[in-house]
Amino acid sequence: MPTSYHTESQSNCGDNKPSHRERAMNSHRLLFLLIAVLFAFPEALPADVVHLKSGVTIEGKVVDLGDQIKVEMKFGSRTIPKQKILRIETAKSTREEFQRKLKTLDPENIEQHLTLAEWCEPRSLKEEAKLCLERVLAENPDHDFARDKLGYKMGPHGRWRVKCKTCSGIGTIREPCDKCKNGKIDCYKCGGKGVLYHACTATGCNGGRVECPKCRGHRSRWTKRLHSGQSMVVYCPVCGGKGTVDCKQCKGGRVRVLCTNCKNGKIQCTACDGKGYTEKRCPTCGGSGIQP
Ligand SMILES: [Zn+2]
Ligand SMILES: [Zn+2]
Ligand SMILES: [Zn+2]
Ligand SMILES: [Zn+2]
Ligand SMILES: [Zn+2]
Repeated sequence: MPTSYHTESQSNCGDNKPSHRERAMNSHRLLFLLIAVLFAFPEALPADVVHLKSGVTIEGKVVDLGDQIKVEMKFGSRTIPKQKILRIETAKSTREEFQRKLKTLDPENIEQHLTLAEWCEPRSLKEEAKLCLERVLAENPDHDFARDKLGYKMGPHGRWRVKCKTCSGIGTIREPCDKCKNGKIDCYKCGGKGVLYHACTATGCNGGRVECPKCRGHRSRWTKRLHSGQSMVVYCPVCGGKGTVDCKQCKGGRVRVLCTNCKNGKIQCTACDGKGYTEKRCPTCGGSGIQP
């Protein structure tokens, strides 16, 4: 959410204009603040702004559903009961509000126009923000921030040039790494399972079975003679006559241990250093970031 700095601009309202130096300093402070809030103008159409009584604001397209409204946002939608709403700024009213605000500005005041450009941002008033920034440039053609937002980049010999559209002036373009998924690959030690199996080292363990502790594997069964003269076979009560019991330390002769080489079977991709993308020089501008 945008940070507010209205006090900055209000101090410059009125007749007593600040000195050149003051204005430069102010614009630097504003520049710093604005970078945080005006990261990019979204391509979307002007949005409605819903102000809730709780103080929260939600931007999107408002659809009236009777006793509640639906706000269609960039990602998903939200239904809000009308009693929770303080007021709604519709896209149309926002545009009118912009025009009203614009009329009150000193045409030469850079800070006021930057403030209004910032106001436009969450409301997706792209053209209006552009207008404000162009006025800033009319006052100060070398205003770095306004230049940047309007798609310019400093070229050779200190001349402003249009930013490369392919790479947005960065000079490089990103491509998803074809060796991995989100910067992670399957661990080669455990095959992506996250666990390893070792052969059991318990004494006498053979495929997960150890010698019966009661009969020691010798007399696993014996014959008992009954009074009737008949005889019956009695099995060792511990091993049931098998002579061996399950090993307590393993399952089937294998011990399961967590793989220490990875986390849940994944390790960082070395091709992209775990970033998930690779960067290459922009083919359009050759890395200069300036539109040819
Ligand atoms: Zn592993
Ligand atoms: Zn036994
Ligand atoms: Zn074992
Ligand atoms: Zn990768
Ligand atoms: Zn480029």
